[in-house]
Amino acid sequence: VRHLVIVLGDQLDAHSSALQDVDATQDVVWMAEVAEESTHVWSAKQRIAVFLSAMRHFANDLRVRGFPVVYTRLDDGDNRGTLALELDKTITQLQPAALVMTAPGDWRVLQSLRKVAADHQLPLTLRDDTHFFSTVREFAAHAKGRKQLRLEYWYRELRQKHGILMEGKDPVGGQWNFDADNRESFGKAGPQNVPPPTRFAPDAITLEVIALVNTQFASHPGALHTFGWPVTREQAVVALQAFIQERLPMFGLYEDAMWSGEAWLYHSHLSCALNLKLLQAREVVQAAEDAYRAGHAPLAAVEGFIRQILGWREYVRGIYWTQMPSYLERNALDAHAELPAWYWTGETDMACLKDAITQTLEHGYAHHIQRLMVTGLYALLLGVKPQAVHAWYLSVYVDAVEWVELPNTLGMSQFGDEGLMASKPYVASGKYIQRMSDHCKGCRYDPALSTGDKACPYTTLYWNFLIRHEPLLNKNPRMAMQLKNLARLDDAARDAISTQALALQAAAD
Ligand code: FAD
Ligand code: SF4
Repeated sequence: VRHLVIVLGDQLDAHSSALQDVDATQDVVWMAEVAEESTHVWSAKQRIAVFLSAMRHFANDLRVRGFPVVYTRLDDGDNRGTLALELDKTITQLQPAALVMTAPGDWRVLQSLRKVAADHQLPLTLRDDTHFFSTVREFAAHAKGRKQLRLEYWYRELRQKHGILMEGKDPVGGQWNFDADNRESFGKAGPQNVPPPTRFAPDAITLEVIALVNTQFASHPGALHTFGWPVTREQAVVALQAFIQERLPMFGLYEDAMWSGEAWLYHSHLSCALNLKLLQAREVVQAAEDAYRAGHAPLAAVEGFIRQILGWREYVRGIYWTQMPSYLERNALDAHAELPAWYWTGETDMACLKDAITQTLEHGYAHHIQRLMVTGLYALLLGVKPQAVHAWYLSVYVDAVEWVELPNTLGMSQFGDEGLMASKPYVASGKYIQRMSDHCKGCRYDPALSTGDKACPYTTLYWNFLIRHEPLLNKNPRMAMQLKNLARLDDAARDAISTQALALQAAAD
């Protein structure tokens, strides 16, 4: 064998850089399902199933295309349980001259594969991941010499470089950013006529995987009876087209809004297909821009959507690869509490959290504001250590892969990197959740109260957060407004808040 071409579970693109020049007469493609990838964090069943099913479909597709594939199944009798051990086994059997792959997304995986290659004294060729608009080298060059990194500058650079939503040198519509138009709530009436999500009934392969996951990972979080994620390229394309047709026009307006029992709203639900590489980032962005040019969707919606993919997604990848491995350990706010056990069950009397967690466990999905301003915010305010929060996010979402999950969790949501990723901590009281959803109506707490029996835990912990971190936050001009409000509280009010916050923290232990 000339090349053993390694394809990981999140590299399911038949046109990837690794697969470009496979010669079926002398190369072999290698894929492996291993338990370690589902147990190094306590992976939810939906997440495990989506990976395994998509991998099995992809391997079949490769075989149809004429690629020779060596594939280890999770339930193969001699499965050694880790990528490193399985790869070691295949190398010993096939004696390839070299290992070739598209650069992996995860730092941990890269280290383990590098070690196997070194142990066998084999060259390991890493090819750029052409799925993305940018390379990590480009991001590093952008970041070099800057005191602060900001999404906005990186995003503009990519818009110009790739000519996306541009009119010559200027952004279409004369503005780079339409965020101000994208912050509506659903008002009293709630969401009206939201199109149903595009879901796919499990086929024979997926049903087999579901049975396997239910047996092998029975104690893992979540359930599989609702499984409907795209697991093939064809399904992913259908999901993309349906999003562009049915949801994109309203995406911007309601990007930040939430509603009880409404998991899907106007979001794309494409993160999983994108992260598995069933969809190309370029085709998703192009489809959105085309919808704008065709007059099908307003600019604010399209720009807001493109900013998430061309902007945030490329930005977090750059942060991850330029900051690892020390990034994993960062804890700027010195937070040490454990994650409350009910994050794994949804059994809490806080209506907003119950809704977000229940939906997460049911579908492996929650939209950005639920992740940032409900589950993430509560952990931040409670003082949970970022590493425990990271382990939860990496476990429960179908789109969770470390390069995108970690900067979002540790950086954007938990401020663990002291503002490298986001310019200020995303903190708010229960009133934010009240404004953006209907949750508080059905809750035993009152978002306006910070002390007493009915005080909303978010509101208590929000003020307590400002009190605890006042010296650090004082250095940040973007926190000035919030600190000005804090200054209005007298000592007695501060004491009462601190006492109530301590009780909440003790109860969560
Ligand atoms: P949409 O709202 O339709 O957005 C469109 C696309 O933009 C998404 O599919 C996604 O690919 C991309 N995108 C949007 N926001 C971000 C972002 N902040 N960073 C990177 N890409 C973004 N996203 C993941 O893909 N995997 C994760 O593990 C993940 N963990 C997160 C953890 C926390 C604490 C937070 C706050 C956010 C996390 N995100 C993660 C980002 C974002 O919440 C999800 O991408 C989004 O909710 C997925 O739903 P969607 O496809 O319907 O997104
Ligand atoms: Fe959440 Fe507080 Fe509103 Fe209850 S009152 S739903 S805990 S924000």
